[in-house]
Amino acid sequence: MRDIIIIGSGPAGFTAAIYAARAELKPLLIASSVEIGGELMNTTEVENFPGFPEGIMGPDLMGQMQQQAERFGTEVVYDDVVELELDGPVKRVKLGNGGVEEARAIIYATGSAYRKLGLPEEEVLSGHGLSWCATCDGFFFRQKTIAVVGGGDSAMEEATFLTRFADKVYVLHRRDELKASKIMQQRAFDNEKIEFVWNVEVTQIHGTEAVTGVTLRDTVTGELRALDLDGLFVAIGNDPRTHLVHDKLDLTPEGTIAVDGRSSRTSVPGVFAAGDVIDPHYRQAVTAAGSGTVAALDAEHYLAALDDAGAADEEPASAEASVAELAVAN
Ligand SMILES: Cc1cc2nc3c(=O)[nH]c(=O)nc-3n(C[C@H](O)[C@H](O)[C@H](O)COP(=O)(O)OP(=O)(O)OC[C@H]3O[C@@H](n4cnc5c(N)ncnc54)[C@H](O)[C@@H]3O)c2cc1C
Repeated sequence: MRDIIIIGSGPAGFTAAIYAARAELKPLLIASSVEIGGELMNTTEVENFPGFPEGIMGPDLMGQMQQQAERFGTEVVYDDVVELELDGPVKRVKLGNGGVEEARAIIYATGSAYRKLGLPEEEVLSGHGLSWCATCDGFFFRQKTIAVVGGGDSAMEEATFLTRFADKVYVLHRRDELKASKIMQQRAFDNEKIEFVWNVEVTQIHGTEAVTGVTLRDTVTGELRALDLDGLFVAIGNDPRTHLVHDKLDLTPEGTIAVDGRSSRTSVPGVFAAGDVIDPHYRQAVTAAGSGTVAALDAEHYLAALDDAGAADEEPASAEASVAELAVAN
């Protein structure tokens, strides 16, 4: 049995792996079979990760994190976790290939997924004028004409933030009223750089190398029209990847995994969570990396306490009891 299994290969998972490996815990990291490296694999230039004054391409940054984790002894498996057994002292992780791995502690760092429009162009144009993150990419759109898709609080926040850079920001919404809170709506209505386009759906994104515009369908009349743009931000929601743990770990009202204060401790002893899957607000690579650090340190302390409890007992109580005691101590 292993000490630690880390699930997820984004900044949270790889940072947790670097710390756990340097603590000689020989972590196994399950990276997924297709989306190795997490969300930053879908972007081009990352300019806000400290340590890279000239910026770095998202896939290069993730490649370097993986190399750093492997250098200290992390074992990476390119497969998906399909089932988890988290109760009790031995955690069982079932993989897509049918294999089962066991560990005394789990770090769950599966991230979250921005909702997509469901258009084929999204795959090609992501990072080339199409974005899901104004904080990350707003800077690239100085004096440009862009649009934000959505009608909730996050769409209003993104649109308002983007007016710092862009000359013009359209908000494209499929209804004639917004879901956003009144205060967020008012802030957007008061901003003279923002123009609302009501009752429209984006049916196509134009551009081969970069976004050049969109086709809009009027949701009332069905009419189609083109809108020229330099960039498009999609702000229609975000889903933490929690489907494997819905009935196993406590979740927050926002749908993220609930953790105890600033720690990574979940509702189940020995299970730690990190990154965007616990974060409804910040969702940045560097915050995910910091959160991965917290999870590795929490897991390390948990394992050390488990070892101490075992060593102190001449006739050790059942591991189950030790874990229960630790849960209280933690
Ligand atoms: C297009 C785009 C551009 C961005 N640009 C920036 C930027 O410039 N700067 C910045 O700071 N942030 C940026 N972000 C945000 C940043 O990417 C995220 O905040 C960060 O990647 C979160 O890290 P994470 O490790 O929590 O999760 P993720 O990066 O989402 O990684 C989670 C990993 O877990 C894997 N996984 C999920 N389920 C399973 C399973 N069952 N089995 C195995 N593996 C699984 C996923 O495949 C994925 O590899 C951007 C996001 C997007 C979408």
